[in-house]
Amino acid sequence: MKTINKIYINGQFVTPHGEEIIDLINPANETKIAQVQLADVDDTRRAIAAAKAAFPAMRLSTREQRMAWLQQLHDAVKSREAELIDTMVEEYGCPRFFAESTVQRSYTGFLQMRDILADYAFETRVGGANVVMEPLGVVGLITPWNANYGFIAGKLSTVIASGSTAVIKPSELSAQQTAIITECLHAAGLPDGVINIVTGRGDVVGAEITRHPDIAKISFTGSTQVGKTIARGAVDTLKRVTLELGGKSANVLLDDVDLEQAIPLALQVMSWNSGQACIAGTRLLVPESRLEAVKEQLRKHISHLTPGENIGTSVTAQQYQRVQNYIRKGIEEGAELLCGGVGRPQGFDRGYYVKPTVFVNVRNEMTIAQQEIFGPVLSVITYKDDADAVAIANDTIYGLQAYVSGKDAARTAAVANQLIAGRVFVNGVYDEPNAPFGGFKQSGLGREFGTYGLEGYLEPKAIMGQ
Ligand code: NAD
Repeated sequence: MKTINKIYINGQFVTPHGEEIIDLINPANETKIAQVQLADVDDTRRAIAAAKAAFPAMRLSTREQRMAWLQQLHDAVKSREAELIDTMVEEYGCPRFFAESTVQRSYTGFLQMRDILADYAFETRVGGANVVMEPLGVVGLITPWNANYGFIAGKLSTVIASGSTAVIKPSELSAQQTAIITECLHAAGLPDGVINIVTGRGDVVGAEITRHPDIAKISFTGSTQVGKTIARGAVDTLKRVTLELGGKSANVLLDDVDLEQAIPLALQVMSWNSGQACIAGTRLLVPESRLEAVKEQLRKHISHLTPGENIGTSVTAQQYQRVQNYIRKGIEEGAELLCGGVGRPQGFDRGYYVKPTVFVNVRNEMTIAQQEIFGPVLSVITYKDDADAVAIANDTIYGLQAYVSGKDAARTAAVANQLIAGRVFVNGVYDEPNAPFGGFKQSGLGREFGTYGLEGYLEPKAIMGQ
């Protein structure tokens, strides 16, 4: 069994001052795989001090230097691709293809930000003013467990491009993945103190980052509940915040849709990352007139979601229980179980595997239609006409992503226009890494990726008389 007892401060791997130890469990077989020594408030303060000391030089670094660092980060992460994938599969319980794509996106993200940086105008003229986009200072990056490498790399790439320095607090549930990506980031050879990584509890390390006066900005990805706690805490020192939070995305099928295409897609987007995706399309909105055909197609295609092959586990026993409770709640509230249900899938007597589950006759006010379940559970809701579909889709506290499918381009465009969501996918799923990513309403604040993301880490300064 492994022991993870190092954090990364000022270019050094150091033993945490914190003494709390937690166990990491392989979610596919429930065996203990590692012990982790967690950082505490002292460790966090040392990391922040290192990042603060590194900032003046970082602030003056040139575009070319930052582009070279982003290239080095890419190369260093890519060079350990196979180990990163193996570690993610073991610690997280996901299918291999998902770990492969996560790792690939992680290192590619450095190059995407390098390309944005290459063309970005840090100085513009506005009448008589010279407007300079300045880095913010020390940025706290607080990330969740559901794509650990991706969130660390994506946020860090923006910090480096902007000329700030970072204190990263990854999820304590991803400590093995963090240990290996930390080695990669160290090997990239950036100046000491530019990158610091402190794995610890949210209410300890995350809370200190939130309250510390030397943190200028927090970029957080995680639950809406914790995002609100961070936003409240950040107000005291007026930290800038970018919040990427939860979702309950609607997938609207218009009445002329081709179900042979739309239903496999609906099952794909509801089960992304084994259902542990903020962008998962977990509410399927179908016209009343086509409900029976939709049910038939769902029954037919759900068998292609195979736990252990293309669908992984819940991350922890606690998360597994949470998903089970939601399935029970759906039954109690009177939704009709079409497929799946409580308990493990057939053939599994251990591991946090969830049966891919579909509820029909769901009303949008039910708990399973309003709350983020974070498991492969789909709620099918019927609507009367396009206006009703839009109203139901938007009747949620969230607004991260939405989906619409249909044959008539004018109708899909009209619906897409009316959906309140940071991203809307029409007739498919797409990858545009430089398009803004983020949520309306309680799905977040601010945007990541591309120029939109970079500007979230910059502050305009107007200089006049020059
Ligand atoms: P979480 O909110 O429980 O934890 C996220 C991070 O915040 C972890 O590092 C955690 O230790 C830390 N944290 C916890 N309490 C804290 C506190 N009081 N102060 C500061 N930091 C604290 O989320 P999770 O369970 O790790 O991840 C799942 C959630 O993340 C889901 O709600 C999902 O929708 C959301 N998510 C959002 C996006 C997005 O881009 N919008 C992407 C992925 C996941």
